[in-house]
Amino acid sequence: MRHTILYIEDNPDNLLLVQRVLEAHHCKTVWAANGLTGIEMAQIHRPNLILLDINLPDIDGYEVARRLRSDGQLRYTPIIAITANALKGDADKALAAGCDVYMSKPINIRELWARVVGMLPDQAPLAEVNFE
Ligand code: MN
Repeated sequence: MRHTILYIEDNPDNLLLVQRVLEAHHCKTVWAANGLTGIEMAQIHRPNLILLDINLPDIDGYEVARRLRSDGQLRYTPIIAITANALKGDADKALAAGCDVYMSKPINIRELWARVVGMLPDQAPLAEVNFE
């Protein structure tokens, strides 16, 4: 089973990093560089999981999460919020907006993959991947 993961992120460096990890594990990665495109991509691709940056150039990730949650078909799609905001209360805000998990940047790829694998259905045992 090949999982599709949507990554909503405006920073191409983060995209490349995350894409490399996901594709090493044979996940299909779909990318959107802003919130509104992200919602559209979610509706088109129906991903198994969404990685969501909070600081986006149009609407913020909290608003993206709220809109995804109000779409019947995307209501239960797991969302991992990823943000540079390390302020107290951001995690609560992300969870209140409908995200399942909150992670802060800089992205730790081992932690990220552990989160991803825990949220994907029927995930095969982890293959050893050298991230270096
Ligand atoms: Mn950003």
